[in-house]
Amino acid sequence: HTAKSNMPTHRGLENFKLVAQMGDGAFSNVYKAIDLSTGEKVAVKVVRKHELNASQAGEKHLSPQFKKKPCVTERANILKEVQIMRAMNHPSIVKLISFSESPDYFFLVLELMEGGELFHQIVKLTYFSESLARHVILQVAQGIRYLHEERGVVHRDIKPENLLFERIPIIPSKISIRRPYDEDKDDEGEFIPRIGGGGIGRVKIADFGLSKVVWNEETMTPCGTVGYTAPEIVKDERYSKSVDMWALGCVLYTLLCGFPPFYDESINVLTEKVARGYYTFLSPFWDHISNPAKELIEHLLCVDPAQRYTIDEFLAHPWCSSALPLPSPTP
Ligand code: ADP
Ligand code: MG
Repeated sequence: HTAKSNMPTHRGLENFKLVAQMGDGAFSNVYKAIDLSTGEKVAVKVVRKHELNASQAGEKHLSPQFKKKPCVTERANILKEVQIMRAMNHPSIVKLISFSESPDYFFLVLELMEGGELFHQIVKLTYFSESLARHVILQVAQGIRYLHEERGVVHRDIKPENLLFERIPIIPSKISIRRPYDEDKDDEGEFIPRIGGGGIGRVKIADFGLSKVVWNEETMTPCGTVGYTAPEIVKDERYSKSVDMWALGCVLYTLLCGFPPFYDESINVLTEKVARGYYTFLSPFWDHISNPAKELIEHLLCVDPAQRYTIDEFLAHPWCSSALPLPSPTP
């Protein structure tokens, strides 16, 4: 047999060898790749242009029913995603290494997160102990603090699929459902999962496709430059950072129990539950979880954005700074 690669090749990407697909989206595929000039392992997000611009290119003569679905992503959005990512420099944010394009594609060369959407996979198997959940969520929160407070950026798409792990942990195939995924510390103080072993490395925020620069209420400036923004715009954006805090609450809830706070088979019922902020700490799954953890979640999954915790309030909460395992609540 000749080992035949079924990985695509792209004009404009000759410097990279694609080795495996890591993920896909509506308009993009993400590959693990080798930078042939340095030997470095990277991730390459390949965004198809023809689908982005299909309704403009060559379809003008077609009647509406023959046209492709309206394009969600546009050139300007990709360029905004790139511009925002370029300005980032934080250990909890996936780094953009370079950006290029060919007639048919955009290429985003990214820091490789070998563990992929591990969060999602672990949650499917089990749930996290409080201390491992804290270890993970604090990394995400530090990333959000950097975005909100230092960069004036709202991510707007915080969810398990966009939180990526640096390394792949070893999860045994036979793991009992609902047993917490616990950890130990190795010599360097890194948490390593007790079940199966193998550190999980850092967790980072990816996918800035929906992110947005917001206006600073006090200085009325976007990202440090002088602006002439009307008050209604500033007011409009006053609570925009709070969407990330709600999402952070959903992620923390899911980490601790293994299922999301809001779920229903019916999209209408689900929408209603979210709108009312109707969720419960379902017994027996939440019985062993500490009161500070529950209280922290209540401050995040709070319908009124003005009452919802900001990232600094989140980080100042006692649950986040508890170094020792929290005592179990008395039943
Ligand atoms: P989309 O806008 O299509 O959601 P993402 O940037 O979220 O695009 O990438 C889609 C998927 O590709 C992610 O959910 C993840 O599984 C994978 N992926 C993205 N970036 C990386 C990366 N740097 N390293 C490893 N996998 C990645
Ligand atoms: Mg995504």
